[in-house]
Amino acid sequence: MLLRLPTSVSEAQECMAEGAVPIGGATLVWATWQRDGFPELAMSLRDLPQATVVEPEALGSAVLLHRIDDRVPEVLRRAAGTVGTGAVRRTATVGGNLVGSSLRCLLPAALVLDARPTVLEPDRAYETDLSEVLAKRHLLLGLRWRTPLASAYRKEPAEPGGAPPLVVATAVHADDEGRRRLRVAVRDGYEVLSETVPCDEGAEAAFGLLERTDAGALPAGARDVVREQVAGILDSLAGR
Ligand SMILES: Cc1cc2nc3c(=O)[nH]c(=O)nc-3n(C[C@H](O)[C@H](O)[C@H](O)COP(=O)(O)OP(=O)(O)OC[C@H]3O[C@@H](n4cnc5c(N)ncnc54)[C@H](O)[C@@H]3O)c2cc1C
Repeated sequence: MLLRLPTSVSEAQECMAEGAVPIGGATLVWATWQRDGFPELAMSLRDLPQATVVEPEALGSAVLLHRIDDRVPEVLRRAAGTVGTGAVRRTATVGGNLVGSSLRCLLPAALVLDARPTVLEPDRAYETDLSEVLAKRHLLLGLRWRTPLASAYRKEPAEPGGAPPLVVATAVHADDEGRRRLRVAVRDGYEVLSETVPCDEGAEAAFGLLERTDAGALPAGARDVVREQVAGILDSLAGR
């Protein structure tokens, strides 16, 4: 297997055109490749500046999970901090987690930030939405978002050998008129849903509105956690 390390977008596009398979930390693909055979050509974006940014409103796809720190919103930092073990976080990347893994602990965080992914094709780079990236498994360059007023992340403890633990991510954003909107994303099993409701009338009113969305069909235990998280994030903003 030849591993290419493009240092510019145009070089990465050349690699794509040659059929290079994207690779992050290889934490997922390695075992499969050992079993089924290695691809002829792979490429890592770790030397591509656009894929390695860690900024208050941007994160590159080649960033290792353990490098996600307080430069980014709390929800994303905490999401990255809960993935697997320290060894996994030192090797796995944002792109591998969002596009390549089935658990995708970063996805609820990205959804509540309303993050916009930039993807690469052999002839262009463009911004799209997360659902398209996941459905089509595009080559992800990175994410951009606008800083929320507050954000939070909670992952319930995992049962050994059991279903993926419940994840609830929340963020409050202000619109151009100063009205606040609460975004909530919940991973229940392998499914992730996200909803947005106004939240200027307080936590109970916001939770009541959420109950009228698909979030109202979540199991009672999950809705209790959502209610706590909604109260927590809106309380943290009281008086601000
Ligand atoms: C012990 C263990 C525990 C784990 N626990 C968790 C957990 O709690 N939560 C969780 O969410 N995940 C968990 N994972 C999964 C972990 O997040 C993934 O292993 C990791 O995210 C894959 O990242 P990687 O960079 O190593 O991807 P790789 O193994 O390199 O690639 C995985 C797939 O993603 C594709 N890919 C890589 N980069 C890109 C890109 N930029 N654009 C498009 N496609 C790309 C590759 O082509 C490949 O198909 C765990 C994994 C292990 C081994």
